[in-house]
Amino acid sequence: MKIAFIGLGNMGGPMALNLHKAGHAVSAFDLSAAACDALRGQGVAIAASASAAVSGAEVVVSMLPASAHVESLYLGEAGLLAQIAPGTLVIDSSTIAAATSRKVAEAGAARGIAVIDAPVSGGTGGAIAGTLTFMVGGNEADLARARPVLEKMGANIFHAGGPGAGQTAKICNNMLLGILMIGTSEAIALGVANGLDPKVLSEIMRRSSGGNWALEKYNPLPGVMETAPASKGYAGGFGTDLMLKDLGLAQENAMAVKASTPLGGLARSLYAAHSLAGHGALDFSSVIRMVQKAG
Ligand code: NAD
Repeated sequence: MKIAFIGLGNMGGPMALNLHKAGHAVSAFDLSAAACDALRGQGVAIAASASAAVSGAEVVVSMLPASAHVESLYLGEAGLLAQIAPGTLVIDSSTIAAATSRKVAEAGAARGIAVIDAPVSGGTGGAIAGTLTFMVGGNEADLARARPVLEKMGANIFHAGGPGAGQTAKICNNMLLGILMIGTSEAIALGVANGLDPKVLSEIMRRSSGGNWALEKYNPLPGVMETAPASKGYAGGFGTDLMLKDLGLAQENAMAVKASTPLGGLARSLYAAHSLAGHGALDFSSVIRMVQKAG
């Protein structure tokens, strides 16, 4: 299958590579030359522009930072929806506002282009291993078309509902993840301040009622888990500013439906303070620095 892939960052890079390794003819593009070079070095064909990438593609996948990037890529006179052939399937895996996903889906439908929102969970580890969880918003028939492509990048595919529903599921999950990461950080910092070995404490909590994804796969303290971003200077992974964006989307949504999300609101404020302190580009697990004893 000829697949265009736009956005080759921490997540999109390994996702596009998995499609290439599965035998699809991938034509990839990113505004960052470094991101393009990294994939070219692994044998993926790099297009000269997003327009060139989608030319002749049967499926277009995008993995961009936020709503504004997705709007400017697809909408407007110069947007990709004006260039993609009718009948093409567009899978947007970026985490963005549900309203933006619906807007892009409507614009696509007006041109005979099916657009589904398919944000993911599983982190960069899941993207590399091809074990991501996809949360899809769109109709059944379009999801059925997308499945063979999604299966090459993920292990779990959920149909959350109509257009935008994948995004709503995703921000519920990430609000919980943001809260969990701060709670896990506090618990580890408390134990360490009391002289406990962080590896032993982490293992105790992992196998006890406090067990969670951060303790399983993403320990926030450097040195506890070799593969976690914490042990790599918080490089790569899931940026603090991206988590801040997701917590903001959750709060906007909560206001719209009058939901009570006090811990989600507090988590947003804590990540905002962490970002303001200069840590926006570090992995979000670096939030442990807010509660860690200095030195
Ligand atoms: P990233 O910042 O590493 O990568 C985004 C890439 O998009 C960058 O390389 C950037 O140059 C490129 N880009 C931006 N605008 C573009 C355009 N118009 N055309 C082409 N390329 C463009 O971000 P990421 O960590 O890969 O995250 C991407 C999305 O996935 C975000 O919405 C994020 O919230 C979500 N997400 C991330 C993770 C994670 O662990 N990193 C996990 C789940 C979901």
